[in-house]
Amino acid sequence: MDSPLKNIKRSYEVLIVGGGIVGAGLLRDLALHDTSCLLVDKKDFSSQTSGKSSKMLHGGIRYLENFDFKLIWEALHEKNLWLKLAPHLCYSQTFFLPIYDNSKWPLFMTRFALALYDFLSGYENIGHEIVSKRKLLQRIPGIKAKGLKGGGIYHDAIMDDTKITLEVIFDALNNKSCQALNYVEFLNFKNQGEYNIVNLKDTITGEEKSVRTKELIFALGPFTDQLLARQKNLNWRPILLPSKGSHLWIDKKCLPIKYPVVLNTNDDRIIFVIPGPNAVLVGTTEDPVEQNMFDLRPSEDEKKYLLENLKNYFPGHSINEENILSSFSGIRPLVKGDSDDLGKTARTEKIYQPYHNVHVIAGGKYTTFRVMGQGISRIIVERKNMPYNHKLTESSLRSPLLVPAFKPVPITSKLIFKIVENEKVRTFEDLVYRRIGVESKKHWRPQIAGGKSFDDFFLPLVDKLSEKIIVTREDVLNYFA
Ligand SMILES: Cc1cc2nc3c(=O)[nH]c(=O)nc-3n(C[C@H](O)[C@H](O)[C@H](O)COP(=O)(O)OP(=O)(O)OC[C@H]3O[C@@H](n4cnc5c(N)ncnc54)[C@H](O)[C@@H]3O)c2cc1C
Repeated sequence: MDSPLKNIKRSYEVLIVGGGIVGAGLLRDLALHDTSCLLVDKKDFSSQTSGKSSKMLHGGIRYLENFDFKLIWEALHEKNLWLKLAPHLCYSQTFFLPIYDNSKWPLFMTRFALALYDFLSGYENIGHEIVSKRKLLQRIPGIKAKGLKGGGIYHDAIMDDTKITLEVIFDALNNKSCQALNYVEFLNFKNQGEYNIVNLKDTITGEEKSVRTKELIFALGPFTDQLLARQKNLNWRPILLPSKGSHLWIDKKCLPIKYPVVLNTNDDRIIFVIPGPNAVLVGTTEDPVEQNMFDLRPSEDEKKYLLENLKNYFPGHSINEENILSSFSGIRPLVKGDSDDLGKTARTEKIYQPYHNVHVIAGGKYTTFRVMGQGISRIIVERKNMPYNHKLTESSLRSPLLVPAFKPVPITSKLIFKIVENEKVRTFEDLVYRRIGVESKKHWRPQIAGGKSFDDFFLPLVDKLSEKIIVTREDVLNYFA
């Protein structure tokens, strides 16, 4: 397999390190401003935090407690914007907030909080409601009735986090002076005043290359401190309080709810229970994390914690470990603030400029990705003596993925090779997990593949696929069973 490093130019105006949603958003903004960019990610695009979120475009109902009104206002406006710009990647959703006799927010406070939430959306949100216990039990069958007082209803959005990031990157690549490479690691750089010399390595082929760039942007999310502390020329002091969050996908057969529910845990946290077509997403946990942060999986304790809370709120349903279809973890890139409490640490982003043409961005939320990096884009575009237009990114994404979000399409071998050809697939997991959207074998629906099981569909393709991507029979047989 040839390294994509072979086909890149020697020099770019901007090099972006990190292909999560923040790097993707910056790439698109700069590409729309006619700037030549190279984006690199050590792994696949959106394979880390940006593919491991709770999959909500939201203002953040719980940030009301922290009085983060500006963040909520901005996030709600972004959520409502993306519902218009990319209706194929996200949809508006009704959320239920059950209130019990020991809930932190009694009904009158919930009414006030949800009214404030609607206000902060500029009344673009579908308006909230307060419902009786009887109505709540009807809408969320099986939810614990003991102590239930009623509930609140509000509206946020559900997104396909992985596919938004991919489509944002592919949209940027409509500017032919831009390139995006996965499995290309940033090693180190030298700042030479007007230019930076950056050393890159293809983690699949081992090939290395140096590239010259005027501006260098680090959009590394939770990996910021790890990488930048290793750069001797930066004298980097850690800025993050990384926090691990895990989710379970539960078989919908054992939890057949129609609407998302927001549950308060005994340790004063929130767990979202969000039904999809065949599975229910349950999360999240909140644990400090150090050491290796790539490709983390939930611990047994985290699984137990989520299942126990679920059982507590849905005593009528029998839910246990066998009903977990798959699970995943991500690391919140929280920037240190005044509070040591991870739940209260602000979700706003921070930007640093260790050299005049080296920019670091970390923190923030997925929902606000479009606006997070605008400060950096503005500096770079205006340095080129061009006007910066913050509204350019308020436009639809032009390069839809072959397998759309939320809509099952027939999977054929022809489609598989078309995806491999067009969507920067380098490994089997890129293909199945992120381009098709199958999280584990237990999520596979034979009816979309002419009735064939996962193994029966993919095993006969391995030889031909291995001419183009990294795949073995074991990859198929061991794919997240
Ligand atoms: C459990 C959880 C739930 C969340 N839920 C939500 C939610 O519902 N809604 C919401 O708005 N936000 C949510 N968030 C927050 C949101 O997911 C993150 O803020 C966002 O995804 C961070 O994106 P990023 O691009 O900064 O980081 P990442 O997506 O992690 O991207 C950083 C990239 O840098 C790459 N990288 C690292 N080292 C190198 C190197 N040496 N060379 C090249 N590349 C490198 C990594 O491979 C990675 O792809 C959640 C976060 C977590 C953890």
